[in-house]
Parts: sequence; structure tokens; C-alpha cells
Amino acid sequence: MNEISQPLLQLRAIRKAYRMGSETIVALDDVDMDIHRGQSVAFVGSSGAGKSTLLNILGCLDRPDSGSYCLNGRNVDILDERDLAMVRNREIGFVFQNFQLLSRATALQNVAQPLMYRPMRPADRVEQARRALDRVGLSDRGHHLPSQLSGGQRQRVAIARALCGQPSILLADEPTGNLDSRTGESIMRLFDELVEDGHTVLMVTHEPEVAQRCERVLRLFDGRLVSEKCNTGERNARAA
Ligand code: ADP
Ligand code: MG
Repeated sequence: MNEISQPLLQLRAIRKAYRMGSETIVALDDVDMDIHRGQSVAFVGSSGAGKSTLLNILGCLDRPDSGSYCLNGRNVDILDERDLAMVRNREIGFVFQNFQLLSRATALQNVAQPLMYRPMRPADRVEQARRALDRVGLSDRGHHLPSQLSGGQRQRVAIARALCGQPSILLADEPTGNLDSRTGESIMRLFDELVEDGHTVLMVTHEPEVAQRCERVLRLFDGRLVSEKCNTGERNARAA
């Protein structure tokens, strides 16, 4: 088997609907997608197009009604809740628009959180969390609470938390949405570096300048994938 040609992530005929009283809202309709290791992908489309629903399914936070999802060679549709939680913990790092940090925990404790579910020595957890904080340029802020950090620093802590468990994919829903443009730019530079380091990054964004930095831009409309644009040339130009 040729490992290079096997997608890290494969969706087939994914459908998800929500029932609201007597009405059914189709949030995702027949979505097919292959994403390979190391790619950066932006999901764009107007509000209600299905972007967050898609990201939640990719992140195993939600399940489709039908269709199949293969992640890192594993069919996740057939997993029970416990195994799904394990896949989520091992394979996925999530970054949210509003950071979602624990307010009473220090930056270092927040970053170490995904490791709490793994059989590790406490000292190793701390060491791994320190390395992740270091990676995002916050090694001197480990003992600060989120309230003692700026918005950009909070998002860096959230990115360190997402990275800390060494997942196969990073998912981000509007990661620069709550930041001013200069801070957002520095967060995007960090994502660029992570992609250059070989991470696979999938993000939802409504900002064209953010989407343009990703290798692939996938547009959703009414729950369907309607177009794809590739920015390979620009990425190569930037990496050169
Ligand atoms: P986007 O992130 O692109 O704005 P969403 O994935 O949040 O879109 O939503 C897609 C559609 O599904 C929208 O019509 C939305 O109203 C509906 N939807 C999303 N989540 C729910 C829910 N929990 N219950 C009912 N409808 C929902
Ligand atoms: Mg959304």
C-alpha cells in the first residue's frame, strides 16, 4: 500500500440535518472530501452554510446522520463514545474563536489538559506542556491566569493546548475572529509556521486574507461543498 496516497482524512457522502419542530434543516448535504497530511485548508462560506457543523464532525465532537468518515486510517463511524473520545484526544487539537481556556487554571495547566487523559508521569506532562508553550513563544507566561494575558496570548495558549498532545490535525473555528488585525496577523504567522513544520491545519474563516494563506480554500453553500481554490503557488513562494 502506498501510504503517501492515503488521505489523512476522508469523508464520503456526509449528511447532517437538525430537526426544529416539524422542520428539518439540512446542515451538510452529501459532502465528499480528501485531505492529506501536511495540508492547510480553509473552509469559507456565508453564515449558516455548515462550516461549524463540518468542523465539529471532523473533530469528532459530533456525528453525521449518514456517510462515512475515515481519520488516519480508522473508520470513526463505528466507534462507541469511549473510543471516539480517545480518538478525539489523540488525533485532534481544537482552537476556538473565544479561546475556551479554563479561567482558574494557569497557562501551563491549560496547555497540559489534553494529557490528563493519558497514562503519563505528571512531570512528563509538565515537560510536554512547557515545550508546547515554548513553541508558541510564551515560555515566560506559564504561571499566568488567562485573565492576566492579552487576547493574542490567550489564543497562543489555546494553540499550545491544541499542539500539546501531538495530534494529527489542528482544527480552528475562526481563530482570529476575536482579535484585532495585528494580533490576528501574528496568530496567522504562527499557523503558517506550524504548517511549514508539517502540521495539518483546517480552519473556518470568513476573512479572505486568512483563507488566502491556506493551500486549499473549500467553499460551502447550503451544506454543500461548491468550489475549491488552490493557493499552492503562493504557499511555495512564501516557503521559498
Ligand atoms: P456556519 O458555521 O457556516 O455558520 P453552522 O454549521 O453553524 O453554519 O449551521 C448550518 C445550519 O445548521 C444553519 O442553518 C444552522 O442554523 C443549523 N444548525 C446548526 N446547529 C444547529 C443545532 N444545534 N440545532 C438546529 N440547527 C442547527
Ligand atoms: Mg460557524
